[in-house]
Amino acid sequence: MDIKVTLNPNPQTPPTGDFGFGQLFTPHMFLMEYHDGQWENPRIQPYGPFELDPAAKVLHYGQEIFEGMKAYRNAADDSVHMFRPDKNIARFNISCERMCMPPVDEKLFARALDLLIDIDRAWVPSSPNALYIRPTMISTQVGLGVKASTDYIFYIIIGPVGSYFKGGVNPLRLRVEEKYVRSAHGGTGFAKTGGNYSASLLPIQKAQAAGYDNIVWLDAKEMKFVEEMGAMNICFVYDDKVQTAPTGDTILNGVTRDSVGVLLRDLGHNWVEEPPAIDQIIEDAHSGKLKEVFACGTAAVVTPVGVMHYKGADHKIAGGGEGPLTLQLREALTGIHAGGSELHPEWLHVVPTFENV
Ligand SMILES: *Cc1c(COP(=O)(O)O)cnc(C)c1O
Repeated sequence: MDIKVTLNPNPQTPPTGDFGFGQLFTPHMFLMEYHDGQWENPRIQPYGPFELDPAAKVLHYGQEIFEGMKAYRNAADDSVHMFRPDKNIARFNISCERMCMPPVDEKLFARALDLLIDIDRAWVPSSPNALYIRPTMISTQVGLGVKASTDYIFYIIIGPVGSYFKGGVNPLRLRVEEKYVRSAHGGTGFAKTGGNYSASLLPIQKAQAAGYDNIVWLDAKEMKFVEEMGAMNICFVYDDKVQTAPTGDTILNGVTRDSVGVLLRDLGHNWVEEPPAIDQIIEDAHSGKLKEVFACGTAAVVTPVGVMHYKGADHKIAGGGEGPLTLQLREALTGIHAGGSELHPEWLHVVPTFENV
Protein backbone atom coordinates (compact mmCIF):
# COMPACT_ATOMS: atom_id res chain seq x y z
CA MET A 1 0.00 0.00 0.00
CA ASP A 2 1.35 3.38 -0.94
CA ILE A 3 1.49 6.07 1.70
CA LYS A 4 0.09 9.37 0.46
CA VAL A 5 1.88 12.45 1.78
CA THR A 6 0.24 15.85 2.34
CA LEU A 7 2.79 18.24 3.75
CA ASN A 8 1.90 20.77 6.41
CA PRO A 9 1.76 24.18 4.70
CA ASN A 10 2.73 25.97 7.92
CA PRO A 11 5.11 23.70 9.76
CA GLN A 12 6.44 25.03 13.04
CA THR A 13 10.18 25.03 13.47
CA PRO A 14 11.53 22.66 16.09
CA PRO A 15 11.69 24.30 19.53
CA THR A 16 14.78 24.40 21.68
CA GLY A 17 15.13 24.13 25.42
CA ASP A 18 13.55 21.64 27.76
CA PHE A 19 11.23 19.29 25.89
CA GLY A 20 9.71 17.55 28.91
CA PHE A 21 7.83 14.35 28.04
CA GLY A 22 4.90 13.98 25.67
CA GLN A 23 4.19 17.71 25.40
CA LEU A 24 5.47 18.54 21.94
CA PHE A 25 4.52 16.98 18.61
CA THR A 26 5.94 17.43 15.14
CA PRO A 27 3.99 19.03 12.23
CA HIS A 28 2.97 15.65 10.73
CA MET A 29 1.30 12.40 11.69
CA PHE A 30 0.60 9.07 10.05
CA LEU A 31 -3.00 7.90 9.87
CA MET A 32 -5.14 5.17 8.30
CA GLU A 33 -8.63 3.76 8.85
CA TYR A 34 -9.93 0.22 9.09
CA HIS A 35 -13.28 -0.29 7.43
CA ASP A 36 -15.07 -3.23 5.76
CA GLY A 37 -12.39 -5.63 6.91
CA GLN A 38 -9.35 -3.77 5.62
CA TRP A 39 -6.96 -0.93 6.27
CA GLU A 40 -7.53 2.00 3.95
CA ASN A 41 -5.95 5.25 2.89
CA PRO A 42 -2.57 5.18 4.65
CA ARG A 43 -1.30 8.74 4.67
CA ILE A 44 0.86 11.34 6.27
CA GLN A 45 -0.88 14.63 6.89
CA PRO A 46 -0.55 17.73 9.08
CA TYR A 47 -0.75 16.93 12.81
CA GLY A 48 -4.11 17.84 14.25
CA PRO A 49 -7.28 16.68 16.00
CA PHE A 50 -9.74 14.31 14.40
CA GLU A 51 -13.47 14.01 14.96
CA LEU A 52 -14.96 11.16 16.93
CA ASP A 53 -18.63 10.42 17.39
CA PRO A 54 -19.53 10.63 21.11
CA ALA A 55 -20.73 7.02 20.83
CA ALA A 56 -17.42 5.74 19.38
CA LYS A 57 -16.62 2.50 21.18
CA VAL A 58 -13.17 3.53 22.36
CA LEU A 59 -14.71 6.28 24.49
CA HIS A 60 -16.87 3.79 26.39
CA TYR A 61 -15.08 0.47 26.54
CA GLY A 62 -11.46 1.44 26.06
CA GLN A 63 -10.64 -0.70 23.06
CA GLU A 64 -7.28 1.01 22.56
CA ILE A 65 -3.63 0.04 22.30
CA PHE A 66 -0.38 1.92 21.89
CA GLU A 67 3.38 1.60 21.69
CA GLY A 68 6.26 3.69 22.99
CA MET A 69 9.62 3.81 21.24
CA LYS A 70 12.36 6.27 20.42
CA ALA A 71 14.51 7.55 17.56
CA TYR A 72 17.91 9.12 18.17
CA ARG A 73 20.31 11.37 16.27
CA ASN A 74 23.82 10.08 15.67
CA ALA A 75 26.20 12.86 16.73
CA ALA A 76 28.98 11.63 14.43
CA ASP A 77 27.18 11.66 11.06
CA ASP A 78 23.84 13.32 11.89
CA SER A 79 21.89 10.24 10.76
CA VAL A 80 18.72 9.22 12.61
CA HIS A 81 17.96 5.73 13.88
CA MET A 82 15.35 3.81 15.85
CA PHE A 83 16.17 1.26 18.54
CA ARG A 84 14.83 -2.25 17.78
CA PRO A 85 11.61 -1.05 16.10
CA ASP A 86 10.83 -4.61 14.98
CA LYS A 87 10.23 -5.50 18.64
CA ASN A 88 7.69 -2.73 19.14
CA ILE A 89 5.92 -3.52 15.89
CA ALA A 90 5.60 -7.19 16.86
CA ARG A 91 4.40 -6.27 20.36
CA PHE A 92 1.81 -3.89 18.93
CA ASN A 93 0.28 -6.76 17.00
CA ILE A 94 0.33 -8.96 20.12
CA SER A 95 -1.62 -6.21 21.91
CA CYS A 96 -3.97 -6.05 18.89
CA GLU A 97 -4.82 -9.72 19.17
CA ARG A 98 -5.65 -9.57 22.88
CA MET A 99 -7.83 -6.49 22.40
CA CYS A 100 -9.68 -8.00 19.46
CA MET A 101 -8.28 -5.44 17.00
CA PRO A 102 -7.01 -5.91 13.44
CA PRO A 103 -3.22 -6.27 13.09
CA VAL A 104 -1.15 -3.81 11.08
CA ASP A 105 1.05 -5.18 8.30
CA GLU A 106 4.60 -5.08 9.70
CA LYS A 107 6.13 -3.76 6.47
CA LEU A 108 3.58 -0.95 6.19
CA PHE A 109 4.09 -0.11 9.88
CA ALA A 110 7.88 0.05 9.41
CA ARG A 111 7.55 2.17 6.26
CA ALA A 112 5.12 4.56 7.98
CA LEU A 113 7.66 5.05 10.78
CA ASP A 114 10.53 5.64 8.35
CA LEU A 115 8.58 8.09 6.21
CA LEU A 116 7.07 10.08 9.08
CA ILE A 117 10.39 10.38 10.91
CA ASP A 118 12.17 11.33 7.70
CA ILE A 119 9.66 14.11 6.97
CA ASP A 120 10.06 15.55 10.46
CA ARG A 121 13.75 14.64 10.66
CA ALA A 122 14.68 18.16 11.80
CA TRP A 123 12.71 17.46 14.99
CA VAL A 124 14.92 14.59 16.12
CA PRO A 125 16.96 16.24 18.86
CA SER A 126 20.55 15.47 19.68
CA SER A 127 21.56 13.21 22.54
CA PRO A 128 20.65 12.86 25.38
CA ASN A 129 17.26 14.02 24.09
CA ALA A 130 15.33 11.82 21.68
CA LEU A 131 12.27 11.63 19.45
CA TYR A 132 9.45 9.76 21.16
CA ILE A 133 7.20 7.71 18.89
CA ARG A 134 3.63 6.85 19.85
CA PRO A 135 1.78 4.44 17.52
CA THR A 136 -1.86 4.14 18.64
CA MET A 137 -5.01 2.28 17.59
CA ILE A 138 -8.53 3.19 18.67
CA SER A 139 -11.94 1.72 17.93
CA THR A 140 -14.27 4.15 16.19
CA GLN A 141 -17.48 2.28 15.41
CA VAL A 142 -20.53 4.16 16.64
CA GLY A 143 -22.69 2.18 19.05
CA LEU A 144 -22.85 1.22 22.68
CA GLY A 145 -23.05 -2.55 22.27
CA VAL A 146 -20.26 -4.27 24.19
CA LYS A 147 -18.68 -5.91 21.20
CA ALA A 148 -15.48 -5.52 19.21
CA SER A 149 -15.62 -2.54 16.88
CA THR A 150 -15.79 -2.98 13.12
CA ASP A 151 -13.91 0.28 12.54
CA TYR A 152 -10.57 1.58 13.75
CA ILE A 153 -8.05 4.36 13.33
CA PHE A 154 -4.33 3.61 13.48
CA TYR A 155 -2.10 6.64 13.86
CA ILE A 156 1.45 7.55 14.74
CA ILE A 157 2.45 10.79 16.42
CA ILE A 158 6.03 11.77 17.24
CA GLY A 159 7.71 14.49 19.26
CA PRO A 160 10.96 15.43 20.98
CA VAL A 161 11.42 14.45 24.62
CA GLY A 162 14.05 15.37 27.16
CA SER A 163 16.33 13.02 28.98
CA TYR A 164 14.90 11.38 32.09
CA PHE A 165 18.20 12.14 33.85
CA LYS A 166 18.29 15.92 33.45
CA GLY A 167 18.68 16.65 37.14
CA GLY A 168 21.22 13.83 37.48
CA VAL A 169 20.54 10.24 38.40
CA ASN A 170 18.27 10.05 41.43
CA PRO A 171 17.68 6.55 42.79
CA LEU A 172 13.97 5.80 42.90
CA ARG A 173 12.01 5.46 46.11
CA LEU A 174 9.39 2.81 45.42
CA ARG A 175 6.41 1.57 47.41
CA VAL A 176 5.50 -2.06 47.03
CA GLU A 177 1.74 -2.02 46.39
CA GLU A 178 -0.02 -4.21 48.96
CA LYS A 179 -3.66 -3.41 48.24
CA TYR A 180 -4.23 -2.89 44.52
CA VAL A 181 -3.18 -5.21 41.71
CA ARG A 182 -2.29 -4.44 38.12
CA SER A 183 -2.79 -7.67 36.29
CA ALA A 184 -4.04 -11.22 36.80
CA HIS A 185 -3.50 -14.41 34.83
CA GLY A 186 -5.81 -14.41 31.86
CA GLY A 187 -6.05 -10.62 31.90
CA THR A 188 -4.49 -7.93 29.73
CA GLY A 189 -1.26 -7.20 31.60
CA PHE A 190 0.95 -8.16 28.67
CA ALA A 191 -0.85 -5.79 26.30
CA LYS A 192 -0.10 -2.06 26.06
CA THR A 193 -3.76 -1.11 26.38
CA GLY A 194 -5.05 2.08 27.98
CA GLY A 195 -7.12 0.43 30.71
CA ASN A 196 -4.04 -1.04 32.36
CA TYR A 197 -2.73 2.48 32.87
CA SER A 198 -5.95 4.16 33.98
CA ALA A 199 -6.38 1.44 36.61
CA SER A 200 -2.93 2.24 37.97
CA LEU A 201 -3.49 5.99 38.42
CA LEU A 202 -5.07 5.84 41.87
CA PRO A 203 -2.46 3.59 43.53
CA ILE A 204 0.38 5.61 41.96
CA GLN A 205 -1.22 8.87 43.10
CA LYS A 206 -1.53 7.52 46.65
CA ALA A 207 2.07 6.35 46.70
CA GLN A 208 3.27 9.72 45.42
CA ALA A 209 1.21 11.54 48.04
CA ALA A 210 3.07 9.42 50.61
CA GLY A 211 6.41 10.55 49.18
CA TYR A 212 7.34 7.73 46.80
CA ASP A 213 8.23 8.05 43.14
CA ASN A 214 6.28 5.05 41.96
CA ILE A 215 5.03 1.59 42.89
CA VAL A 216 6.11 -2.01 42.49
CA TRP A 217 3.34 -4.41 41.52
CA LEU A 218 3.03 -7.84 43.10
CA ASP A 219 1.33 -10.84 41.53
CA ALA A 220 -2.46 -10.67 41.88
CA LYS A 221 -2.93 -14.23 43.11
CA GLU A 222 -0.71 -14.45 46.19
CA MET A 223 0.75 -10.93 46.48
CA LYS A 224 4.11 -12.61 47.06
CA PHE A 225 6.13 -12.07 43.90
CA VAL A 226 7.39 -8.89 42.26
CA GLU A 227 6.06 -8.42 38.75
CA GLU A 228 6.97 -4.99 37.39
CA MET A 229 6.47 -1.26 37.87
CA GLY A 230 3.69 -0.42 35.44
CA ALA A 231 5.78 1.40 32.83
CA MET A 232 9.12 -0.20 33.57
CA ASN A 233 10.37 -3.67 34.37
CA ILE A 234 12.47 -4.24 37.48
CA CYS A 235 15.61 -6.33 38.07
CA PHE A 236 17.45 -7.51 41.18
CA VAL A 237 21.25 -7.84 41.20
CA TYR A 238 23.01 -10.48 43.31
CA ASP A 239 26.63 -11.64 43.28
CA ASP A 240 25.72 -14.74 41.29
CA LYS A 241 22.66 -13.65 39.27
CA VAL A 242 20.47 -10.86 38.00
CA GLN A 243 16.84 -11.79 38.53
CA THR A 244 13.62 -10.49 37.02
CA ALA A 245 10.05 -11.75 36.68
CA PRO A 246 9.46 -14.10 33.73
CA THR A 247 7.31 -12.78 30.91
CA GLY A 248 3.92 -14.41 30.62
CA ASP A 249 0.49 -12.90 30.46
CA THR A 250 0.77 -10.62 33.50
CA ILE A 251 3.76 -8.42 32.73
CA LEU A 252 4.66 -6.23 29.79
CA ASN A 253 7.52 -7.77 27.85
CA GLY A 254 9.81 -4.74 27.74
CA VAL A 255 12.25 -4.19 24.88
CA THR A 256 14.64 -2.60 27.39
CA ARG A 257 14.27 -5.62 29.69
CA ASP A 258 15.13 -7.94 26.81
CA SER A 259 18.11 -5.78 25.78
CA VAL A 260 19.42 -5.66 29.35
CA GLY A 261 19.17 -9.47 29.49
CA VAL A 262 21.24 -9.79 26.31
CA LEU A 263 23.87 -7.28 27.51
CA LEU A 264 24.18 -9.04 30.87
CA ARG A 265 24.64 -12.45 29.25
CA ASP A 266 27.24 -10.86 26.92
CA LEU A 267 29.11 -9.76 30.07
CA GLY A 268 28.94 -13.28 31.48
CA HIS A 269 26.25 -12.61 34.08
CA ASN A 270 23.69 -15.20 35.02
CA TRP A 271 20.32 -13.76 33.83
CA VAL A 272 17.51 -15.49 35.70
CA GLU A 273 13.84 -15.11 34.81
CA GLU A 274 12.13 -16.44 37.93
CA PRO A 275 9.47 -14.79 40.08
CA PRO A 276 11.32 -12.69 42.70
CA ALA A 277 9.72 -13.31 46.13
CA ILE A 278 9.18 -9.99 47.90
CA ASP A 279 9.93 -11.41 51.39
CA GLN A 280 13.26 -12.75 50.11
CA ILE A 281 14.14 -9.44 48.47
CA ILE A 282 13.52 -7.47 51.65
CA GLU A 283 15.51 -10.02 53.68
CA ASP A 284 18.37 -9.87 51.17
CA ALA A 285 18.31 -6.06 51.21
CA HIS A 286 18.91 -6.20 54.97
CA SER A 287 21.57 -8.91 54.88
CA GLY A 288 23.41 -7.17 52.06
CA LYS A 289 23.05 -10.09 49.65
CA LEU A 290 20.99 -7.90 47.35
CA LYS A 291 23.58 -5.69 45.66
CA GLU A 292 21.50 -3.49 43.36
CA VAL A 293 17.97 -2.98 42.10
CA PHE A 294 17.20 -1.19 38.84
CA ALA A 295 14.17 -0.35 36.75
CA CYS A 296 14.31 -0.44 32.96
CA GLY A 297 12.12 0.90 30.16
CA THR A 298 12.20 3.15 27.11
CA ALA A 299 11.62 6.35 29.12
CA ALA A 300 14.13 5.85 31.93
CA VAL A 301 16.53 3.43 30.15
CA VAL A 302 18.10 1.90 33.28
CA THR A 303 17.55 3.71 36.57
CA PRO A 304 18.60 2.74 40.09
CA VAL A 305 16.19 1.94 42.91
CA GLY A 306 17.40 3.20 46.28
CA VAL A 307 14.47 2.38 48.56
CA MET A 308 11.64 -0.14 48.60
CA HIS A 309 8.82 0.43 51.04
CA TYR A 310 7.06 -2.75 52.20
CA LYS A 311 4.95 -3.64 55.25
CA GLY A 312 5.19 -0.23 56.84
CA ALA A 313 8.93 0.34 56.53
CA ASP A 314 11.43 1.77 54.07
CA HIS A 315 14.12 -0.73 53.11
CA LYS A 316 17.33 0.69 51.68
CA ILE A 317 19.06 -1.14 48.85
CA ALA A 318 22.84 -1.30 49.39
CA GLY A 319 23.16 2.16 50.90
CA GLY A 320 20.56 3.71 48.60
CA GLY A 321 22.89 4.92 45.86
CA GLU A 322 23.51 3.72 42.32
CA GLY A 323 25.36 0.42 41.93
CA PRO A 324 28.14 -0.22 39.41
CA LEU A 325 26.23 -2.71 37.24
CA THR A 326 23.25 -0.35 36.94
CA LEU A 327 25.62 2.39 35.82
CA GLN A 328 27.42 0.08 33.40
CA LEU A 329 24.16 -1.07 31.81
CA ARG A 330 22.83 2.46 31.46
CA GLU A 331 26.05 3.62 29.83
CA ALA A 332 26.06 0.62 27.48
CA LEU A 333 22.47 1.27 26.41
CA THR A 334 22.72 5.04 26.10
CA GLY A 335 25.94 4.48 24.14
CA ILE A 336 24.09 2.22 21.71
CA HIS A 337 21.23 4.75 21.48
CA ALA A 338 23.66 7.58 20.67
CA GLY A 339 25.17 5.58 17.80
CA GLY A 340 28.79 4.62 17.34
CA SER A 341 28.81 1.84 19.95
CA GLU A 342 30.39 -1.46 18.97
CA LEU A 343 27.70 -3.31 20.90
CA HIS A 344 24.81 -4.80 18.93
CA PRO A 345 24.80 -2.58 15.84
CA GLU A 346 21.96 -4.83 14.60
CA TRP A 347 19.69 -3.17 17.18
CA LEU A 348 19.75 0.14 15.29
CA HIS A 349 17.58 0.78 12.27
CA VAL A 350 18.80 3.83 10.33
CA VAL A 351 15.91 5.92 9.00
CA PRO A 352 16.45 6.26 5.24
CA THR A 353 16.23 9.54 3.41
CA PHE A 354 13.40 9.51 0.90
CA GLU A 355 13.48 11.53 -2.29
CA ASN A 356 10.76 14.02 -3.16
CA VAL A 357 9.19 14.43 0.23
C1 LIG B 1 6.13 -0.05 28.03
C2 LIG B 1 6.13 -0.75 29.33
C3 LIG B 1 7.29 -1.29 29.92
C4 LIG B 1 8.66 -1.09 29.33
O1 LIG B 1 8.78 -1.57 28.05
P1 LIG B 1 9.91 -1.01 27.06
O2 LIG B 1 9.65 -1.72 25.79
O3 LIG B 1 11.22 -1.37 27.66
O4 LIG B 1 9.73 0.46 26.99
C5 LIG B 1 7.16 -2.01 31.08
N1 LIG B 1 5.96 -2.19 31.67
C6 LIG B 1 4.83 -1.66 31.17
C7 LIG B 1 3.54 -1.92 31.83
C8 LIG B 1 4.88 -0.92 29.99
O5 LIG B 1 3.76 -0.40 29.49
